Amino acid sequence: MAKNNEIPYKIYLTESEMPEAWYNFRADMEKKPAPLLDPKTHQPATLDMLSQVFCRELAEQELNDTDRYIPIPQEIRDFYRMSRPSPLVRAYCLEKQLGTPAKIYYKFEGNNTSGSHKLNSAIAQAYYAKKQGLKGVTTETGAGQWGTALSMACSYFDLDCKVFMVKVSYEQKPFRREVMRTYGASVTPSPSETTEIGKKILAEHPGTGGSLGCAVSEAVECAVTNEGYRYVLGSVLNQVVLHQSVIGLETKAALEKYGIKPDVIIGCAGGGSNLGGLIAPFVGERLRGEADYRLLAVEPASCPSLTRGKYAYDYADTGMICPLAKMYTIGADYIPAPNHAGGLRYHGMNTALSELHAQGILEAVSYQQTEVFAAAEQFARIEGILPAPESSHAIRAAIDEAMKCKETGEEKTIVFGLTGTGYFDLAGYAKYNDGELQNYVPTDEELAKSLAKLPQV
Ligand SMILES: *Cc1c(COP(=O)(O)O)cnc(C)c1O
Repeated sequence: MAKNNEIPYKIYLTESEMPEAWYNFRADMEKKPAPLLDPKTHQPATLDMLSQVFCRELAEQELNDTDRYIPIPQEIRDFYRMSRPSPLVRAYCLEKQLGTPAKIYYKFEGNNTSGSHKLNSAIAQAYYAKKQGLKGVTTETGAGQWGTALSMACSYFDLDCKVFMVKVSYEQKPFRREVMRTYGASVTPSPSETTEIGKKILAEHPGTGGSLGCAVSEAVECAVTNEGYRYVLGSVLNQVVLHQSVIGLETKAALEKYGIKPDVIIGCAGGGSNLGGLIAPFVGERLRGEADYRLLAVEPASCPSLTRGKYAYDYADTGMICPLAKMYTIGADYIPAPNHAGGLRYHGMNTALSELHAQGILEAVSYQQTEVFAAAEQFARIEGILPAPESSHAIRAAIDEAMKCKETGEEKTIVFGLTGTGYFDLAGYAKYNDGELQNYVPTDEELAKSLAKLPQV
């Protein structure tokens, strides 16, 4: 085993050390996540039902909770090679600045043009769509990370990509929009005149800036009314967590190269895909009783599904077309405060992660956005990388864990996921720098109001 001072600043794997299969931790769960339900009949979703919404192979992956490993097709591995393996970085400079005996590592997923981990699943979803002979896919995007990743993936496999982008973002955040268009996607500000639901909303609310829910409805309508199209999602689903397991498998392989055993593994949590992917192989060891890691989800205090939500069936999408999922949720109706700049706005959490939280295997904390941006600033100044606000939730928690180690003198090893860069999130940084970022914590009454609208199952 190498000594700590021999560990390089960046641990790189070689291309041949990249995983050949995704790891499906559901296979190792004794108590499985609750099944998805058909939104109309409330019966467990079948392969045939899911195949109308998703590509067939993706639907199979969604339902597969028995196969530990699912081979990564060579075409996807070829694409992964352009920006993978991603580095695992030892945060030597941050450790020194904090004066902590803890050792901090982060897995950096921002070194690709889309700027985040979302590309890991976008390329897989585009590949299976192409293989099935589809013409294209539709999706919605708020700030644009998922839309950007999906347009890159679609252009690689020569698939059409139709993105409905919330109108205010389309107008106020033109940069990701232009990346998407450069990669050949059509980007439509939502609500639009191109769908029935869009026309209806425009007639009722002329001049509206749109919302994510409205963009979802348009994307879904566009997919079901156009032959050869499917609607795709960039988080929440088990298939997405499965694809993201490439993050955790690489992290574990890199740590093992130097005989490092982590104590705490931390990820930010929106719908749960990067977190689920990062912790996947470590969860597996815990479930099989081979190791004991602390696993920590970090979410915004303004959108607190794991820390304050209810474990119940809810709509996975605001368009109510996807199956119902049993998850920690604050209600599909819940809309975070408009001044929320930190991302991670999803109302629920992946079903498998929800079940792990219910079993006490996955812990959760929440932070206010000014604390999160303060951690982002501190990290940027000492480690060089400008982090995405979403990723900065994990940075905040990692710094706090390291500071606890300073008090106790424990030499813990902390690993966190740095999911993306903040280059396209400078409007949020501007607000922080101008002192205009406000914290918002929903009251119990507010949460109760959206929770009252959960479907009766
Ligand atoms: C979308 C996104 C997230 C949150 O999504 P998860 O599915 O919870 O991983 C986190 N970080 C970045 C940079 C993102 O773009």
